[in-house]
Amino acid sequence: MRMLMWLGLAILVYLAIRKSIRTNKPPANSAQSDASQWSDGPFGQAPGAPHHAGTPSGQAEAMLACDHCQIYFPASEAVTRSAKHYCSQEHADAANKN
Ligand SMILES: [Zn+2]
Repeated sequence: MRMLMWLGLAILVYLAIRKSIRTNKPPANSAQSDASQWSDGPFGQAPGAPHHAGTPSGQAEAMLACDHCQIYFPASEAVTRSAKHYCSQEHADAANKN
């Protein structure tokens, strides 16, 4: 009787492990396409691509320096006041108060 209980427990553990392995591993097809995407993307570009520091290209989003705190932020998030760019509404207000 005790043996049966252990056997049942062993089967439960075995099924649980099988289930966790199946959920952790994605299907072979999607894993393959993911791998090819990654090798085509950043690994193909990184070595030869010039480091764009300060020179905004068409690919990367332009960065602006906040006129108040000098922090760099994406140009799309800029708050512009009197031809000056700020990282946030607060800094635009703070700079205009001074
Ligand atoms: Zn700022």
